[in-house]
Amino acid sequence: MMVVTRFAPSPTGRLHLGHAWSAILSHDFARAQDGRFLLRIEDIDGTRSRPEHVEAILADLEWLGLRWDGDIIFQSQRLPLYEAALGRLRAMGLLYPCFCTRADIAASTTAPHGPEGAIYPGTCRGLGAPDLSKPHCWRLDMAKALAIVPGAGKELVWHDHGASVLATPALAGDVVLARKDAPASYHLAVTIDDAAQGVTHVVRGTDLFHATHIHRLLQALLDLPTPEYRHHALLSGPDGQRLAKRDGAPTLEAMRLSGMDGRALADQLRAGLLPVGIASAKA
Ligand code: GLU
Repeated sequence: MMVVTRFAPSPTGRLHLGHAWSAILSHDFARAQDGRFLLRIEDIDGTRSRPEHVEAILADLEWLGLRWDGDIIFQSQRLPLYEAALGRLRAMGLLYPCFCTRADIAASTTAPHGPEGAIYPGTCRGLGAPDLSKPHCWRLDMAKALAIVPGAGKELVWHDHGASVLATPALAGDVVLARKDAPASYHLAVTIDDAAQGVTHVVRGTDLFHATHIHRLLQALLDLPTPEYRHHALLSGPDGQRLAKRDGAPTLEAMRLSGMDGRALADQLRAGLLPVGIASAKA
């Protein structure tokens, strides 16, 4: 079986060292096995995605010496695919429209908490005659979904670095599958595209580990194959703190434009070293 990995950045900002690390791991895993390394631009968020971020991402990857195979996939050009999947889930009776604002949900005293914050309290579940002319998102009725997936809670598993992980999507509650402002959510689009692109190994940071519980459920509901997962530790600075945008670390673009050698930087990261100055660049 040919190994296929991908790097799937959202062009809502410039890339940082953490992105570089993830792209390197995904790229190197494919290359080590004569596999394919794909690039997918996750630009379904039309309000925050920008073409100039896409251009910078491509330049950054080339600068790091990471070449992708085949055409770049843009999620914004694949909306009919996501709509078809939503239609399927809707026909199965698994979706309901939700009119709540973030403030409504935050104000709900009954909202339980899951690994990713407040779980939707189900306010709009079972509305009699929803007025679809009002702004709404579509949520997955988690209880109904789990009731029809064979083996949910027992046999619904994925493999992470080869180890079996039991999927527990119930912890996420009624997740959003189509947003008010976008015809798909991250969870739906990523699950469909990984399958459509024949991705065999999803290499991404542990910050998305919780999301995989949901992706595994969607695979079961939509009859999609389950890739192998390789969630990797996030890059952290010398103080053990995660390197992220908010730390004031320079973007890859800033390093590239400063004349730094990108390939040498990639090799440094592979050797477990951070570039000089990153620690002091932190706030
Ligand atoms: N687009 C997501 C991000 O930039 C990553 C998606 C994924 O690797 O599954 O955080």
